[in-house]
Amino acid sequence: MKVESVRGMRDILPEEAGLWQKLENEIRSVFSLYGYREIRLPLLELAELFSRTVGEATDIVHKEMYVFPDKKGQMLALRPEATASVVRAYIEHGLYAKGDLAKLYYIGPMFRYEKPQRGRQRQFHQYGVEALGSLDPALDAEVIDLAWHLMERVGLSREGLFLRLNSIGCREDRPLYREALRSYFSGQKEKLCLDCQRRLEENPLRILDCKEPQCQGAITGAPKSLDYLCEKCREHFEELLSILRDLGLSYELDPRLVRGIDYYTRTVFELCSRELGAQDALLGGGRYDDLVELLGGPPTPGVGFAGGMERLVLVLSQNRPVDAEAPDLDVYLVPIGEEGRRKALEILASLRRLGIATDLDYMGRSLRKVMSVAARRARYALLLGPDELSQGKVNLKDLRSGTSSTLPLPEFLARPRDFLS
Ligand SMILES: [Zn+2]
Ligand SMILES: [Zn+2]
Repeated sequence: MKVESVRGMRDILPEEAGLWQKLENEIRSVFSLYGYREIRLPLLELAELFSRTVGEATDIVHKEMYVFPDKKGQMLALRPEATASVVRAYIEHGLYAKGDLAKLYYIGPMFRYEKPQRGRQRQFHQYGVEALGSLDPALDAEVIDLAWHLMERVGLSREGLFLRLNSIGCREDRPLYREALRSYFSGQKEKLCLDCQRRLEENPLRILDCKEPQCQGAITGAPKSLDYLCEKCREHFEELLSILRDLGLSYELDPRLVRGIDYYTRTVFELCSRELGAQDALLGGGRYDDLVELLGGPPTPGVGFAGGMERLVLVLSQNRPVDAEAPDLDVYLVPIGEEGRRKALEILASLRRLGIATDLDYMGRSLRKVMSVAARRARYALLLGPDELSQGKVNLKDLRSGTSSTLPLPEFLARPRDFLS
């Protein structure tokens, strides 16, 4: 019986994994430039971590979360996002006790039971940063600048990126805004989809996330959160806009942007690529100034973003075809005859210990076939012919230029890098 992968769980094969590794390295390096350090978190958490923070009324918790009991009946969830886990760890390990800003980043798989489609799987991968401990709007700007810088570093043009920005206010502003939405949408209840009619009772803010065409008319005319900000939230937002202008990062205010998660406060943003549809953000984030307290820690503001690896891979491979055939080895050993093969095994072990990526044929292929494999996989072929070997020599062929030279084997093994460019 053939066992297949679970729907929405995709294998990343070696041809593609090279691009993933490159991206991951780039992400780590840019995050480090801004002083963020990695935190590695479990994939499983108590389900209530997400229902209490992301919110019961959100699609993520209401429809998409993988929840199941363990053998003791504890309800667990495969994490649908990482911010709640970062904050859980921040409190659990008392990272606030250092009285300093905690700058953390993560890269890893998340799980949501959604309809699988191109660039969206049920196991998907996110990278993200969280800065905990400061309400300074300069930190919001730093996080946005970091996101922007990262997208430029992986090869997207500055001009092709645009920032959608909004402020949804603090917990003092929220009840006023929620009531304004409730009374506005109650007047158009019959136009809303069934989900939104439920959202109207649970959390009318979530109606703004709705993608159903029938709800768009009502959403367009909805009250704007910017009109319900308190003085402090307004000042915070204006300071952020002014820093962004200084940094030359352009933005579009988007009153509909609320980011589909309950824990957000004040700043919310999405960085989008013009090469994708308008709905398709590369990454998104914002402030969550009440989240630490909500999970039992001391009042601590925070700001961060998360981006999807799949989305990034899609955009980058659209931009320029992935160079799948780039050689991954330095040297391919090509023994000729039985004596050559015994010698090859020795050379193979030595070169690998010297840090030279080396391989040979284990499939008993003909010399012609081995040479064609070598040409695809490696920069150089090292030919071990019986005549040369008997004189302690080998033949090094540059597979790019086609030139070859005969070298004394001991000299090559002593300093292989001198012979490999
Ligand atoms: Zn406020
Ligand atoms: Zn709706």
